[in-house]
Amino acid sequence: MAILTEKNHLPQIGEEQLKLLERLSNAVAVSGDEGEVRKIVLEEVRPHADEVKVDALGNVLAIKHGSGERPLRVMLAAHMDEVGLMLTYDDGDGIYRFDTLGGVSISDLPAKAVWVGKNHVPGVIGLKPWHLGNTDEQKKPVGLDDLRIDVGPVSGKVKVGDWATFATTFTQLGPSLRGKALDDRLGVATLIELVKHAPPQIDLLAAFTVQEEIALRGARVAAYSLNPDMAIVLDSTPAYDLPVWDVDENVRYNSKLGAGPAIYIADSSTLHDPRLVRYLIETAEEHGIPYQIRQPGGGGNDAGVIHKQRLGVPSVSVSVPGRYHHSPAAIVRLSDWQYTMDLVATALFNISSKILEGDR
Ligand SMILES: [Zn+2]
Repeated sequence: MAILTEKNHLPQIGEEQLKLLERLSNAVAVSGDEGEVRKIVLEEVRPHADEVKVDALGNVLAIKHGSGERPLRVMLAAHMDEVGLMLTYDDGDGIYRFDTLGGVSISDLPAKAVWVGKNHVPGVIGLKPWHLGNTDEQKKPVGLDDLRIDVGPVSGKVKVGDWATFATTFTQLGPSLRGKALDDRLGVATLIELVKHAPPQIDLLAAFTVQEEIALRGARVAAYSLNPDMAIVLDSTPAYDLPVWDVDENVRYNSKLGAGPAIYIADSSTLHDPRLVRYLIETAEEHGIPYQIRQPGGGGNDAGVIHKQRLGVPSVSVSVPGRYHHSPAAIVRLSDWQYTMDLVATALFNISSKILEGDR
């Protein structure tokens, strides 16, 4: 039997982990239709967790028990769903009106290839050819009513109520990764690795949540059910770190690629527990793991409902920074993913209830 050391509790990203992220990114799991990702998660965690269940909303809850009298109950959450679209009206001839699910910008939609329904039927989001419009029309922003999903006249293959998402396949670009739904398949892939490398002294309560992108619905019941002492939410936060030309410096980047995991202090739904923020920063500094502080501001994730559950749950979030989330393709850095894994795995390996006894 392997001797449990801190070192072998640090999951390494290799071919196997990249393949897993690729499968997760290519899977279609728009909010409310997470089955494809859930299937992969169940396959991966079942051999490693002590208890695995799918709850009434579709969250996967996987528990790995720790040893000792009363191990600290640490909830780790990552959302399985992605933003996307739903067919709402059949215009005939394979053309459908649709609505958005989650934070999708209409400006990202025209002319994009999509996958529709459980069978990934290929389609495209069409609109009136721009060059046939008059000048007034060309200046007007495109609205949802101007757009249709066109799958061709393939009768019976799709129907009103089907979900759709961007047809983007995952690829590696040198030190970067490009794919759809990396928010939050990166968190899901990280959490799978953490279940496989669970530290011995805690009850690791993994929640792979549903419907995060439409008001954090799954995490609310997951946190109630798991009843944790504290929580760490694993997500991917926007990096708006592009060069600027009209001002001296980009000071509103939220997070930056290549600067390590982004630790949250405040977003629009959570003031993160200062003891946990401090603990993550100290862990990073002690172990030489690069990190960054996500600029306090808007946005939010599952922590927004987890920290308000029952008598309150001290919560913190850690994200892999990513450019162009909620669009057809995001770009992230492989090193940021590894450092995020290093930080959370190291923090879990050394964590104890003392952290929650400290001053705020
Ligand atoms: Zn997210």
